[in-house]
Amino acid sequence: MTRLVDIGIRIELVSMYPYFHDISISLYERRGNDGSYEFQVHSYAGRDGVDQCLQHVAAAMAVLGGMSPVVGDNTCVRFTCGRRHRKACKRIFLEACKVALGTETEARMMSVFDKKTERTISVEGMGHGAYQIDADGEEEGRARRVTAIAGGFVKLAEMDYVDSSEQAVVFSCKEEHNSLMGLLLRRALNVRAAMREQDDSAGRGLLAAPSAQQQ
Ligand SMILES: [Zn+2]
Repeated sequence: MTRLVDIGIRIELVSMYPYFHDISISLYERRGNDGSYEFQVHSYAGRDGVDQCLQHVAAAMAVLGGMSPVVGDNTCVRFTCGRRHRKACKRIFLEACKVALGTETEARMMSVFDKKTERTISVEGMGHGAYQIDADGEEEGRARRVTAIAGGFVKLAEMDYVDSSEQAVVFSCKEEHNSLMGLLLRRALNVRAAMREQDDSAGRGLLAAPSAQQQ
C-alpha cells in the first residue's frame, strides 16, 4: 500500500552532500497528526543507497539535537517537546550533514574550550528549559564573553534571555534540550561564521533552478 504524505515545506537545503555523490538533501517541516512539528529529510536523487544516506542524516539529527524518530518513518524526526524550533532544527540538519556516512554520531558535551579566550565555556541546565552560560578563568573580560555567547544562542536558536544580565537563555517551550545546547554551544562561539553558513545555504536554496533541486 502506498502511503501518501504531505511532505511539508522546505526549510533548508544542502545542495551538495559530500559523502554521497554530491546529491542535494533537503529538510522539510510539517505538522504531524497530533499537531507537533515533524522534520523530514528528503532527496529527489534516484540512486541506490539514497535511503540509507537519508536515514543516516536523520539518525545523526536525532543524536546531535536530542530529537526523536517519528514512528514508522526513519527519515523523519521531531523534538521531544513537539515544538517547531525551526532555526535550531535547520542548524541540527546542517551539522548532521557534516557527519561522514558510516561514522557514529556522538552527542556534544555541554562544555567546550574556547580558543579565542582560552577559557572553558559551559552551559548548565537550570530547569524549565533555561540554561546558565559560564566561563572559567580570570574575571577580566569574562562577563563580556559569556554575554556574547548567550547572544549567539538567542540568534542561532530563537531563545530568550532569562534576565537582564543576559548570561542565561531559555527555550520558549520551557523544556530541556541538553544535546541541542551542546551542539549550539560550539556554533555560538563564532556566531558570525554560523550565520554566514546559514545565509549561504539559504541563498543557494533560493537561487537553485528547479532542475538542480531535483537531481
Ligand atoms: Zn522545545
